[in-house]
Amino acid sequence: MIVIMDKRATKAQISNVVARVEQAGYQTHLSEGEERVVIGVIGNGRPLDRDQLERMSGVERTVPILRPFKLASREFHPHNTVISVNGCSVGGKQIVVIAGPCAIESRQQLLETAHAVKEAGAHILRGGAFKPRTSPYSFQGLGEQALRFLAEAHEETGLPIVTEVTEPQMVPLVTTYSNILQVGARNMQNYALLHAVGESQRPVLLKRGMMSTIEELLMAAEYILSHGNGQIMLCERGIRTFETYTRNTVDISAIPLLKQLTHLPVIVDPSHGTGKWELVDPVSRAAVAAGADGLIIEVHPHPEEALSDGAQSLKPTRFAQLIDGLRPVAEAVGRTL
Ligand code: PEP
Ligand code: MN
Repeated sequence: MIVIMDKRATKAQISNVVARVEQAGYQTHLSEGEERVVIGVIGNGRPLDRDQLERMSGVERTVPILRPFKLASREFHPHNTVISVNGCSVGGKQIVVIAGPCAIESRQQLLETAHAVKEAGAHILRGGAFKPRTSPYSFQGLGEQALRFLAEAHEETGLPIVTEVTEPQMVPLVTTYSNILQVGARNMQNYALLHAVGESQRPVLLKRGMMSTIEELLMAAEYILSHGNGQIMLCERGIRTFETYTRNTVDISAIPLLKQLTHLPVIVDPSHGTGKWELVDPVSRAAVAAGADGLIIEVHPHPEEALSDGAQSLKPTRFAQLIDGLRPVAEAVGRTL
């Protein structure tokens, strides 16, 4: 349930309500909007009498949240969450473009890509240091050395960094190098990892599992939110269907649906979503037209030599063309790029 406080509610009135529901065994989460405070009542406590709560001073009304995700829901937090990463806002009017290689292969490859994507207009740099590959024989990433290359790329370009963290024990290490922690599709329901990134209080890019429903994605976000970390970007990266011409099937309808169900920003990954570089540009435009807040795109200076995901990686020149083609689409839906 949520308790919606009156616009004029005082701090003391809010604390009284918090104390009352906590006494009954619940946890509380405050959402402080521009107009009013909403108190989220979460967990399993003793039955609460809604009429009694509504008679407390400063309370406007109470609303039960019937969906299993609570803190992620629009009811709890009606306004869009805007996440600030080194001066870059995710979830605001601007479409945010995250770009970089699938995997960091060398210092030279990363720096070259970082400069190229920055030049083209990207806002955030991506690059995998720890790669969760389908085959144990595939390139697994350069690990900590790659994190140091990311730090260098950040220093040179000023671009904030997002990189994947695959295990809870690695969260402190990755946090020292990365502005955003990426939880990959394969780890969307790794609950120990979700708890750890939640505790870190760092912005998180949470990718939808390839066989996960939208509700499961939002429940995964709820784990992170339950630690008081509301800085979550949800990422639609394609789901597995019977179609084999594409690597995955991008669920375009997930974008407006997520915007309806939750206040969290939605990012689309047309690279993993399609698996084909030729499809990245049109699907990016479709995603922005459908209301996505941002894109995450794989770029490699020489895709034919890439150690992972070359078939879906764009050359820097094509990435620059993609950005140019995206501007009018962004404008058409009232966004900037
Ligand atoms: C990635 O973005 O590097 C990645 C591995 O993607 P996903 O987790 O969506 O497969
Ligand atoms: Mn990849």
